[in-house]
Amino acid sequence: MTILILGSGGREHTFAWKTAQSPLCKKLYVAPGNSGTEEVAENLAIGVTDFSSIKKVVLEKGIDMVVVGPEDPLVEGIHDFFLNDKDLMHVDVIGPEKAAAALEGSKEFAKEFLFRHNIPTAAYQSFNVNNVEEGYAFLETLKPPYVLKADGLAAGKGVLILKDITQAKSELKSMLVDAKFGEASSKVVIEEFLDGIELSCFVLTDGKNYKILPTAKDYKRIGEGDTGLNTGGMGAVSPVPFATKEFLYKIEHRIVKPTITGLQKDNLPYKGFIFIGLIKVGNEPKVIEYNVRMGDPETEVVLPRLKNDMVEIFQAIANQTLDKIDIEIDERSATTVMLVSGGYPETYEKGKEIFGIEKIEGSIPFHAGANLKDGKIVTSGGRVMAITSYGNTYEEALKKSYQNIEKLHFDKMYYRKDIGFDL
Ligand code: ATP
Repeated sequence: MTILILGSGGREHTFAWKTAQSPLCKKLYVAPGNSGTEEVAENLAIGVTDFSSIKKVVLEKGIDMVVVGPEDPLVEGIHDFFLNDKDLMHVDVIGPEKAAAALEGSKEFAKEFLFRHNIPTAAYQSFNVNNVEEGYAFLETLKPPYVLKADGLAAGKGVLILKDITQAKSELKSMLVDAKFGEASSKVVIEEFLDGIELSCFVLTDGKNYKILPTAKDYKRIGEGDTGLNTGGMGAVSPVPFATKEFLYKIEHRIVKPTITGLQKDNLPYKGFIFIGLIKVGNEPKVIEYNVRMGDPETEVVLPRLKNDMVEIFQAIANQTLDKIDIEIDERSATTVMLVSGGYPETYEKGKEIFGIEKIEGSIPFHAGANLKDGKIVTSGGRVMAITSYGNTYEEALKKSYQNIEKLHFDKMYYRKDIGFDL
C-alpha cells in the first residue's frame, strides 16, 4: 500500500515510525512532516488543510490511504471531501467524517451528545451573545472555580478556569461580546468544575466495532509540579498506574460503549481514533472532552506499546473488520519527555541546531518541531522532540529518557524534570 500521513508533530513521526515497520506499507509519505518523518518516509511540502494540493498528490503518487494526524482537516471535512469526489472515493481515510468530527469542533455539540447518551460528564449550559445576562445568572448558581469554554477550536487556549466570579463574568463578556477567540467563542459552554486527576483513554473504531488502546496521562503545564501556562503537552506516561482493572471496566462500560452506540444512533460516521479526556472524581470516570484524533505526546507512549501491525489495523478500520483484530500490548511501561524551545509556550526562537541525537541509546527520539536545514537538524517549533523509553516500571522508563536527554542540547533547551511526579 501507498500511504500518506498528514501532520508534522511528534504524533505524526510516531505514526510514520510505526507504519513504516509494516510489510504492508510499500511507500510512505508525510505531509508536511519533519526531520524525523524524513528518516522513515518521504516528506511532501503540503499543508494539512490544503485539500486541493492533497488531492493532486494523492492522484499523482497513487496513494491508497490517508491517515489524518491533527484535528483541523477532520473538522474541515477532509474525509467527506474524499468520499464526495469520484476520483478520490476509492482512497481510504483514517479519521471521522465532518459530522462526527464536531465532537471536537464544537464543545456544545459534544456536551449535547454526552447528555443524550447518558455518559458521565460535568453539568453545563451554553450561551451566546444574545443571552449573556443569563450566563451571569448561571455563574451565580455555581461554586468556584468557574470553567468557561469557547465552543470552537482555539488551539488549546479556549478553556479558562477562574477563581473569581467578577473575573468569570468579565471573561464571559469578552468571549461572547468582544469575540476574544473570534468565531470560536461565539458560543461559550460554562461547566461545573470537576476536582480529580486526569487521564486519557484511546479508542479505535470502524463505526461498528471498537478496540481500546492503552491509557496514558500527559503533563500539560510548562512548569514543574504542573504549574504555569498550558502547553500542548510536556511529557506522558502509559499505562496510568491508578487506572486499575475495576476503573478500566467502568471506563469501557459507562463511557466507551455508550460513545460507540451513540455515534451509531446519531448516524455519525466514524472510522478512526477517539481520544477521550477523562477525570477521575472519587472513583468515577467522567468525560472532560472528546478529541477526534490521537493526542500528542500521548501517541509517543501509546503506539510504541502496540505490538500489532499498524497497517493491518488501518485496513480493519477502513473495511469495518476491527472485530477480527486482537490488540496486543507490550506489558512494559512507556514514557516520554518533551524538549521545548526556551520561552515556549510564549515567544521563542527557532532555527537552533540540535546536537547529540546520534548518541541516544535505548530511547526513541520522536521529532516534533524539528526540521532539516542544510543537512543539520534545527528547531522549528515550540515543542521540539519527545524522548520515549520503555521500562519494567514507569520510573525505570523515565530514568532512561532523562539519561538520554543529558546527551542532547540546543540553545535554550528546556524540559520538565518531574514527569510522572504525581503517580
Ligand atoms: P486541549 O486541546 O488542551 O486538550 P481543550 O481546549 O480542548 O483542551 P478541554 O480539554 O475541554 O479543552 O479543557 C482543557 C483543560 O481544562 C482540561 O484538560 C482540564 O484540565 C481542564 N478542565 C476542562 N473542563 C474541566 C472541568 N469541568 N472541571 C475541571 N477542569 C476542567
